[in-house]
Amino acid sequence: MRVLVPFGPRQLVGIVLKVHNQAEVENNKLKAAIRLLDDEPVLDAKMLKLMEWASDYYQHPIGETLSTALPNALRKAEPLPELAERRWRLTTCADVEQLAKNAKSQHAVIDYLQQQQSFADADKSQLGFTSNTLKTLVEKGLIESYQQQPEVQPNIKAEPSPLKLNAEQKQLISDYDQQVKGFQPILLEGVTGSGKTEIYLQLIERTLARGQQALVLVPEIGLTPQTLQRFAARFHCPMAIFHSNLTDKQRLLHWQQARLGIARIIIGTRSALFTACDHLGLIIIDEEHDLSYKQQDGLRYSARDLAIVRAKLLDIPIVLGSATPTLESLYNAEQGKYRHWQLTQRAGNAQPPQIQLVDIRHQPMRDGIAESVLPYISDTLSRGEQVLVFLNRRGFAPSLICHDCGWVSQCHACDARLTIHLQARHLRCHHCQSVEPIPQQCPHCHSRALVYHGTGTERVENALRQHFPDTPLYRIDRDTTSSKQAMPTMLENIHQHDAAILVGTQMLAKGHHFPRVSLVLILEADAALMGTDYRAMERFGQLLTQVIGRAGRADIPGTALIQTHYPDHAQLGKLVSHGYHRFAMDLLAERRQIHLPPFSYQALVRLEDQNPEQAIHTLMQLQQSLAGQPCTSLGPFPAALQRRAHFFRYQLLLQANSRSALKHSVSVLIQAGESLIKGNRQRWSVDVDPQDFS
Ligand code: ADP
Ligand code: ZN
Ligand code: ZN
Repeated sequence: MRVLVPFGPRQLVGIVLKVHNQAEVENNKLKAAIRLLDDEPVLDAKMLKLMEWASDYYQHPIGETLSTALPNALRKAEPLPELAERRWRLTTCADVEQLAKNAKSQHAVIDYLQQQQSFADADKSQLGFTSNTLKTLVEKGLIESYQQQPEVQPNIKAEPSPLKLNAEQKQLISDYDQQVKGFQPILLEGVTGSGKTEIYLQLIERTLARGQQALVLVPEIGLTPQTLQRFAARFHCPMAIFHSNLTDKQRLLHWQQARLGIARIIIGTRSALFTACDHLGLIIIDEEHDLSYKQQDGLRYSARDLAIVRAKLLDIPIVLGSATPTLESLYNAEQGKYRHWQLTQRAGNAQPPQIQLVDIRHQPMRDGIAESVLPYISDTLSRGEQVLVFLNRRGFAPSLICHDCGWVSQCHACDARLTIHLQARHLRCHHCQSVEPIPQQCPHCHSRALVYHGTGTERVENALRQHFPDTPLYRIDRDTTSSKQAMPTMLENIHQHDAAILVGTQMLAKGHHFPRVSLVLILEADAALMGTDYRAMERFGQLLTQVIGRAGRADIPGTALIQTHYPDHAQLGKLVSHGYHRFAMDLLAERRQIHLPPFSYQALVRLEDQNPEQAIHTLMQLQQSLAGQPCTSLGPFPAALQRRAHFFRYQLLLQANSRSALKHSVSVLIQAGESLIKGNRQRWSVDVDPQDFS
């Protein structure tokens, strides 16, 4: 339970984890808690166990770990919300005859109550009753208000599925019904458009019918209104949907509804994993490969990995779904730790997209688009179909260069170029978000010959508007979707058009279903092919497959065109001709040979200092603390972005043969670090199972 405790001059919220008979410190040093904030535990015993596990695994203090799990409002001293509803009913001794015939509005209330028994106070104005009328009736002793606790519906029936399951889907469902009992991780590897969501819905249906709750994690909730609509159409039950734009109060209300078992389906992003649930029976992680499941600060947890632990503690099934599973999950499936479900065919009449590599060497290019692809675009549009153009770079151009002296627009605080945003009329650093006006002349040689170098989504938008002035065009990236309603509105419009062009970043790749998109154009495969860390190729395969997968998802066959300077690149070729699974299994074999995760275990120590020598020096000292530990350490080496917001960033990579060896080494290093690194001149962190080396 939570308690309010004195902490220096402040009062903070604490959590009672254990009660001891004897204190570890002297009695006169003990302080009394100010008051108990709850009359029942906010987290049940299983959740507490999960958080203890997380604290231990990620070597993060238990207090901060628990705080990560609680909704904001509970981290402050706010009480658990009351969900009871105020309602009105007739009193048992109501003598209705005493009411004057001409008291029309009072009669309206009485008539309603005689027929319907009660109504919610919240609905009164909708029913046309005023507070004054109700007050008068109370004074006459005719009606009274009361509190009603929301009911937990025992079992919820789903609407029948509008789809007839195909053979592959049927087989998975029957496997579930016959074989899956208790804790069982399932990797659902289904090609894009194979009907994974339908599988989720059917499993949820079974869970609800047993009176249990289902928890569904998605990468980005605001972006997938279609999925939410599908859930709402299928299940008429209270759902707790954790949108990013809920207030703390609304969030707490949803959380409480889930905690008490009233909300039966809980849908949200990463942190929704920590929603307390009264009777959880199933966890689903959609797009399990998505990087957003890993928190990149504070408690650096993987929601997917913690979800597996939660499922184990609760002894329930968990489904990880993706068209492009991570190598970790594929390995676990290969090892038999996960049940491996596959959907190899697209559902309904949809066909897999035809993929073509466009060799852009020697080709005339304008604004990032090869001339030879323009006829494909116009053909598609003339058939009344839609084109999706993918480029993973926002802004107009990634750098501003002086044609006379070679000056480049650099961020003053980072090792990065400033991106030109023409619509917003400024240069912006994508790493520290600092903004500068666009110069009219070169600050170095005063020449006016400044050129926009390279291509971003804004530039592609401009170019395509010139080529196809009469076609509706939507640009979808973080700049155009910053307001709450922007994305839903755009998606709705897109669904209403026939011909249209969509230009966007990876936001477009995430789980969308655009039935009219029949051509996908990938402007740049090359940058991703040359990524630096060992996960780059895996990420490249995932992103490319997901983007390609937006083509031809309904009845119109799809084509994907990939512009590249390296049409003979072996990995690219493998991905295009054999598909993601084969590509990924070969990468997994490579990882096995060079002993990288999932065949070894890593932790990344990150350190930032305004002085680079100091950063290196401290990391070397930390490295020395590891002498004799069962791990190897690599570094110190600079991060891919060596300087950000005036700080130099260095890293040390620990690698071990087992999780326990890694954990032991990390705890030794953290102890050394805590006595070595003091004050706030240096920032440091340890990331267990790091995903991002930038
Ligand atoms: P995924 O999540 O695997 O990308 P979805 O579940 O979104 O795929 O399904 C893609 C499309 O196929 C949806 O429009 C869905 O309604 C449809 N679909 C799924 N299963 C079937 C089926 N058995 N028969 C016909 N259409 C189906
Ligand atoms: Zn110049
Ligand atoms: Zn910057």
